[in-house]
Amino acid sequence: CWESGAQSSADWRALDAAHNLHPFSDHKALATEGSRVITRAEGVWLWDSDGTRVLDGMAGLWCVNVGYGRPELVQTAARQMTELPYYNLFFKTATPPAIELSRKLVELTPPGLNHVFLVNSGSEANDTIIRMVRHFWALEGQPERRVIIARDNGYHGSTLAVASMSGMTAMHKQGGLPLPDFAHIREPHRFKVAPNTPPEAFAHEAAGWLEEAILSIGPGRVAAFIGEPIQGAGGLIVPPPGYWAEIQRICTKYDVLLIADEVICGFGRTGQWFGSDTYRIRPDMMTLAKGLSSGYMPVAAAMVGDRVAATLIDRGGEFLHGFTSSGHPTACAVALENISILEREGLVDRVREDIGPYLMSRLETLRDHPLVGEVRGQGLLAGVELIRDKAHHTFFSPVGRVGARCRDHCFRNNAVVRAVYDTMVMAPPLVIGRDEIDILVDTLSHALDQTH
Ligand code: PLP
Repeated sequence: CWESGAQSSADWRALDAAHNLHPFSDHKALATEGSRVITRAEGVWLWDSDGTRVLDGMAGLWCVNVGYGRPELVQTAARQMTELPYYNLFFKTATPPAIELSRKLVELTPPGLNHVFLVNSGSEANDTIIRMVRHFWALEGQPERRVIIARDNGYHGSTLAVASMSGMTAMHKQGGLPLPDFAHIREPHRFKVAPNTPPEAFAHEAAGWLEEAILSIGPGRVAAFIGEPIQGAGGLIVPPPGYWAEIQRICTKYDVLLIADEVICGFGRTGQWFGSDTYRIRPDMMTLAKGLSSGYMPVAAAMVGDRVAATLIDRGGEFLHGFTSSGHPTACAVALENISILEREGLVDRVREDIGPYLMSRLETLRDHPLVGEVRGQGLLAGVELIRDKAHHTFFSPVGRVGARCRDHCFRNNAVVRAVYDTMVMAPPLVIGRDEIDILVDTLSHALDQTH
């Protein structure tokens, strides 16, 4: 029982519309339609305030990797809150959970990433990286190296700086963005732009856009390139084979730092611990969030490679950056236990060897549907891109309306699938069963039949 006295779904919806400003939402539309209020969850299932069960094909926001309702995580949080509910890493203090989490992240991530700056969200992790990278180059005597290159439709978060770094032009239109010194290259979306080019040739061409950008900006001005191993919120864009090797080569050639945003791809999502393992990327820096705690606590990390760390530590002086809850002990303890569940239950291997291939094989059955242009994915990240006319390779206009209709059909039929433009995206908890995948794919298939 809540103080407001709200009990029915109608009560909750009215209160929500009256007071709650939602992220990434059109409030006028939301007030008319009303929110679906989620009250509890277990495994891969949510329950709404009407008591209806909903299959969560998105693991919340691509984050609840170990599934809902894990008593180990609850007990860990309670234990840590009893022992030490809060302390911080400012002013020469530390706490065992923060120290232990950093040690564990160094052990799990690719070699050379030996230092960790703990924060609370993926946005903060990427924001932290921006400051570190520019500070690094200034200390190296190249202060003009400030530009960070990212990709169109890359998503790195919502603060002023990371929204500028993100390649979402619609976001740039709000709040006077982008800030200076960010540049964007096209994403490696072969199906969209070059379906007839062989993947290897397209990989070369798409990575070449980075080299063109570096040369046009001037190599002496480029600080770093950032990318998600697989672009998530930009439309589930799986890079063609060879793309990342070529990006790595170009970064090395021009001494541009390579940053992997692993906020979605990390912690087993691609069938390896990190997308960087899947694509053999050796990043100078890496950002982690979401699956780090399976969303049970807000916690994130900026992983810093030896080269950058050495300069920042030896010559950087005081790094004037951090948040009250950076390295929050309860969040860190929960993250550690979450990692331990992933390890104990072999969930990363399960994604690679069993359930990821099963999801893809089931989605492949939709390929012949007249609306389906492409099925793509890796591990438990999957996208089904809808197209207006397969024969002429024409897309819907306006972009996204058909995808949104299909998503709404799925939701009405009690499955969460996301629409990014006209790509139907799925990223379920790593514990999803085959029978639950069948329900998800059948619901999507039914929704496709109903979508016009
Ligand atoms: N980076 C990527 C790849 C993301 O997908 C997101 C969020 O969806 C972020 C960064 C931002 O993370 P947060 O929402 O925790 O700030």
